[in-house]
Amino acid sequence: MADIAIGVDIGGTNIRAALVSVQGEILAKVSERTPTDPLLALERVIAMARALDTPEVLGIGVGIPGRVDVDSREILSGGILNLSGLDFVRRIEAALGKPVVIENDCSMALIAEMRIGGAKGYQNVAMLTIGTGIGGAVAHAGRIYHGHKAAGQLGHICVSQDGPPCPCGRRGCVETFSSGTALRRHIAEAGLSVVTIKEVFDMAAEGDDAAVRVLRQWAVPLRAALDNIAATMDPEVILLGGGLGCDAARALADLPAVAPWFCPAILPAKLADDAGVIGAGLSIFTADAPSQEKRARGKRARGKRAVLVNGVPASGKSRLAKALSDRTGWPILSLDGIKNPFLQHIGPVDRDFNRTLGKASYQAIWSIIADAPAGSTFIIDAWFGFQPKAQLENYIDAAKVGDVAELWCKVPGTVAGERYASRLKERLPGHPGAEYVPELITLADRAEPMGCGAVMTVEQTKEPDMEVILAWVWQVFDRQ
Ligand SMILES: [Zn+2]
Repeated sequence: MADIAIGVDIGGTNIRAALVSVQGEILAKVSERTPTDPLLALERVIAMARALDTPEVLGIGVGIPGRVDVDSREILSGGILNLSGLDFVRRIEAALGKPVVIENDCSMALIAEMRIGGAKGYQNVAMLTIGTGIGGAVAHAGRIYHGHKAAGQLGHICVSQDGPPCPCGRRGCVETFSSGTALRRHIAEAGLSVVTIKEVFDMAAEGDDAAVRVLRQWAVPLRAALDNIAATMDPEVILLGGGLGCDAARALADLPAVAPWFCPAILPAKLADDAGVIGAGLSIFTADAPSQEKRARGKRARGKRAVLVNGVPASGKSRLAKALSDRTGWPILSLDGIKNPFLQHIGPVDRDFNRTLGKASYQAIWSIIADAPAGSTFIIDAWFGFQPKAQLENYIDAAKVGDVAELWCKVPGTVAGERYASRLKERLPGHPGAEYVPELITLADRAEPMGCGAVMTVEQTKEPDMEVILAWVWQVFDRQ
């Protein structure tokens, strides 16, 4: 089965969507005008992706005009079309049932240019897309560099603190001098009656002073911004894309860098309007495509997560907890794991004392989780029903656990009784003995999950399907 993905590029003028192969070829393409209403734009993205979707499509990558938190998949801000505040990613995922990756649109274009375009073979690249505004993206060691969240806003490098106001709230960002919008302003202010930048170049070539001045007004601030980029991140190459990328590279040819160390190669991008959709499609195949682990990182940063592996004694919880831990790397806190060393040191104890140790161990588990950093995930292996639900809820709150998934290990009483009886010899003195079996049979038949979060019942009379269980746990953590 061929790996293909859908790439979507939401531009100020057009939304483009394409089926993209793993090699970056466009297999099919659609395009429509971008609605000005964000909700309408989202609906069009869904409709266009649906039109291209096939069973072979692995996911949908979307280039967003604005700042994007890639890990949490949130849109932080936008420009003319502001998609922040919409449940953008989940709406598309719900509509198509496939994973969605979002990135800033210029970052998507850079992904494509590095793979098959003007920056192919380079590892450290800065890119500016020069159109209505100026977009930016940075790659470090072959991967998009995000910084804390949304690095690479190169259009907002300040080149004159007294310059024109910028939509970002400051003055004199390079976008206010060297974008397509700014070029039109320079042309109008110079009183030139030209429509295209080619005409300006032609006039300048013939020695027209006003045209030369316009090109300098447009390119000198850009040169300053590129020097700042060279000074701060020393890329091998700076790529100029967007509708005016080639023209900007041409205008800069007359403005050499003032010092050799400001001299990364300045190259025009090669993929033109297709860079955005190709990169968006490729983002599904790259190592940067968010694994489920990464997708939940934004949520983890806000709270902790707990998988409660719950069931009566001899219901198979410890094996299930171990299997889950092996696959996820999450640590297990087990009630018996804490209690047993005490039993070993203390020796035989009566059932009351055993229960006291159990309660203390239960408390110890939640104290450990309470002390753990935000974002931690734990697997807790216990028969939770030996304490009231309200107690568990208090512990969950106090430990600042935000997401709870409960795996309820269900087993018929007779099976639990047989298993318990067969393992009596392995149990430490202090655990109830054979006399407990009838009680356990009754308990197992009427035991219920705690229900403090989402619950999945795992039939413990057969081998649990870990893939299904793991997918469910991730779904719970991603959804809550
Ligand atoms: Zn700005």
